[in-house]
Amino acid sequence: MRFFVVKNAKLATFSAIVLAVLVATFALCSPMIVYAARTTSEVPTIVIDAGHGGVDAGVVGKTTGMRESDLNLQIALLLGDVLKGAGYFVVYTRTNDTSLTLVKSDTRKRTDMFSRAKIINSAKADVVVSVHMNYFPSSSRRGAQVFFDRNDDASFRLATAVQNSLNEINLENMGREFSPLTAEKYILSCSQAASVIVECGFLSNPADERLLETPEYKALLAEKIAEGVKDFLKGETAG
Ligand SMILES: [Zn+2]
Repeated sequence: MRFFVVKNAKLATFSAIVLAVLVATFALCSPMIVYAARTTSEVPTIVIDAGHGGVDAGVVGKTTGMRESDLNLQIALLLGDVLKGAGYFVVYTRTNDTSLTLVKSDTRKRTDMFSRAKIINSAKADVVVSVHMNYFPSSSRRGAQVFFDRNDDASFRLATAVQNSLNEINLENMGREFSPLTAEKYILSCSQAASVIVECGFLSNPADERLLETPEYKALLAEKIAEGVKDFLKGETAG
């Protein structure tokens, strides 16, 4: 009996060492932003992807010169705050003005997107919201539009919920609503998560640009996107 106790104590020590090594290895190998693993599997994980960053500014405001990458990040962080406040687990693909790759060649964009996909898949995201700004040759086009992958039903439901919420802003600004649109984009199909791209406004439209300059409008966009995400998640658990 005594031998049994000693043997188990040794086993326990050995197990503790193995566990410590495994935890340390996991922490060192995981991307910095992700390794604060979700606390409970009951809480949905939402990955917020601020499009572009670093050398990739995205589109630039026609009259203001505002960089899309900056606006995307500002709205992404506000959106994250709202969703964290609502009790969801939030993971960002970036939290500062950086590209997600160190490669400086033609493959830079591709490796940047692979890094985003890795974060999304490591986080086991339930929802992905990729934040962008739009641009169109005709300056008359404006408003907030949501895009999804046509092959995924959950993404369609998420896109519909987010677009419906954003249409409150579209109605007020333009007197019209949008339906969610399909798009073939890597970020929309790189994981099992319900995924959308939100094009918050047109940097080719002076009225959208003026609004996007203000902190109040950025906060409003974040709030409306969050409402759409919450509506979608409530619908999924109810169904
Ligand atoms: Zn973009």
